[in-house]
Amino acid sequence: MINQLINKNELPQFQNIKIEAVLPQLKAQLETNRSTLKDILAASEPQSWDTLMQPLEDMGDQLNKLWSPISHLHAVKESEPLREVYNTGLQLITEYHTELSQSEPLYQAIKQFSESDLFLQLNAAQQKIIENDLRDFKLAGIHLSTEQKAKLALLQLELSKLMNTFSEHILDATHGFILPIKDEAQLEGLPQQTLELAKEHAKNSGQDGYVITLDYPMYSSAMKFLAHRELRQTLYTAYVTRASDQGPQAGQWDNTEMMNKLLNIRHEIANLVGFNNYADYSLATKMAKTPEEVLSFLQDLLTRSMPIAKEEFATVSALAKKDGVSDLQAWDIAFYSEQLRQSKYAFSPEDLRPYFPINAVLDGMFTIVNKLYGINIQEQKDVPTWHKDVRFFTIADETKTLRAGFYTDLYARAHKRDGAWMDDCQSRRTFSDGSIQLPIAYLTCNFMPPVNHQPALLTHDDVVTLFHEFGHCLHHMLTKVDYTSVSGINGVPWDAVEFPSQFMENFCWEKASLDLIAKHYQTGAPLPDELFKKMLAAKHFQTGMQMIRQLEFALFDFKLHFNYDPKIPNFVQQTLDQVRAESCVVPVPSFNRFQNSFSHIFAGGYAAGYYSYKWAEVLSADAYSAFEDSGLFNQRTGHSFLENILEVGGVRDPMLSFIAFRGRKPTIEALLKQSGMATSAT
Ligand code: ZN
Repeated sequence: MINQLINKNELPQFQNIKIEAVLPQLKAQLETNRSTLKDILAASEPQSWDTLMQPLEDMGDQLNKLWSPISHLHAVKESEPLREVYNTGLQLITEYHTELSQSEPLYQAIKQFSESDLFLQLNAAQQKIIENDLRDFKLAGIHLSTEQKAKLALLQLELSKLMNTFSEHILDATHGFILPIKDEAQLEGLPQQTLELAKEHAKNSGQDGYVITLDYPMYSSAMKFLAHRELRQTLYTAYVTRASDQGPQAGQWDNTEMMNKLLNIRHEIANLVGFNNYADYSLATKMAKTPEEVLSFLQDLLTRSMPIAKEEFATVSALAKKDGVSDLQAWDIAFYSEQLRQSKYAFSPEDLRPYFPINAVLDGMFTIVNKLYGINIQEQKDVPTWHKDVRFFTIADETKTLRAGFYTDLYARAHKRDGAWMDDCQSRRTFSDGSIQLPIAYLTCNFMPPVNHQPALLTHDDVVTLFHEFGHCLHHMLTKVDYTSVSGINGVPWDAVEFPSQFMENFCWEKASLDLIAKHYQTGAPLPDELFKKMLAAKHFQTGMQMIRQLEFALFDFKLHFNYDPKIPNFVQQTLDQVRAESCVVPVPSFNRFQNSFSHIFAGGYAAGYYSYKWAEVLSADAYSAFEDSGLFNQRTGHSFLENILEVGGVRDPMLSFIAFRGRKPTIEALLKQSGMATSAT
């Protein structure tokens, strides 16, 4: 039985969602919100929290609870009609937000309230909400003329449409390509699980033999293991030219023009509201203060990692040469890297799969957070979901108080967006009668689904991904903040958001925690010591190459938005080429159009913010070193992390939270040590 505090009927009723009813409901909600706003502003008495701010909080919460399941379904169960409804709905919501953020009377009301004596009596969360609102009004151009405001609104609308189309193109291009193979001999090297899946794909599409797709788990498995060089080239070409003017689908779903438009619009928006460029605009809401600070941070890491990356690449090249490949190409690197890994450590990541059946991993992960934070996680059956593989869990704390709930949707399937992420279904808040709305999260991954009645078996990479996303979930779910705008991950600066998620990854590399999650799916045996030692030895395999790849993405993104100049022709490609000249050690073919599917920055929230991953990794590595010092499952350290980092939401400055936990500011050293680069500093 589900606990009464999460009333089943208060969760989204996925089975009852009628696509045709979504827009009328949304329009009605927006109308209600608009008329509430009118009433709020018509008040003749001086405003208080309860007459001004709380109703605004409520409006936002209502809208979020209505739209979040729709936006979630759009990501995990797409269909033509839903896509249409989603796009129209998104447009209505964007218009509404623009209207709010440009409302002069609302701005004046909040500003006056912030200057009144009442403001000083508010609690920290309430004050933070008001400060954020005033900042966001400025970013939304409240100080602009009516004409300029209208222009800004149009730009915002256009931007959100473009971002959505950008992402649709990638989805279409990914599913628009398949590679049918009749002869199994051509698939030499492919792991059994991938082979089975390819067979199933063929069967589902009524074909004999095998079908390789560009879904990431299958694509990356093929690139690592497929011995057939031409097939690898074919797949690589299709993958890195998705949504571009190149490759087998050239010109179809092409995102090239879209990128220019996106950059141009962002630049215009930044200029309009008073910033020199979109990078400055982006940093106005982040932990990092200036573009120079970000660039020198990235540059510093690049300088330290480059020599190691070069060495690593030389080693792969040498191995390929021995195999008769003297012209190492982009589609050979994952393959020979895998060969190198196997020869160096006598171990393949595939060897670990049997030890990571999904249920053992989930149980182990739940035990780990129980040890750290004292929370208990339980599955709840009979909760309505959108797919038979989806499960629902609740979290209770040490006092048996229910704290949160979350859905898991873990396997790749058609019509589901690529990648792994956490999303907010509803956020924590209290009501005036003292009751609490519990935070609910969606945990979405794209692991290889179970095949042939075997449980889904994860790679260690998958396990790390799962821990990462679960870290985001915990941040969203363990909050104790009472206002949705700053509870959980809401209101947390973007470059600090990855801190709790990357922090969780560390537990995937400790024997003490692996003993809790690894269990052979047939024998139940724990991960053998020998395999663990090999895995650990291989942890830093190509760590330099991985580091500079992330730095390449981060520098490309930041320079795109910092240096943008509409007069420079071919600006995107030119910027990427320049960044690669400094930060890339592997060959990149001229037809590579990676940027055309770089959805993080063109379709997501990472514009001039991709650096956040590395930035937050400094925080997470340093925080984790406190656990290494005190003992992995030290409860005092665990509870301090819970109270100082996970519970505070967006109320406190992340730097102050970090200092409260660690007793000092973060340093880069723990990250270098974690990446196996501590001694190579130059
Ligand atoms: Zn993340």
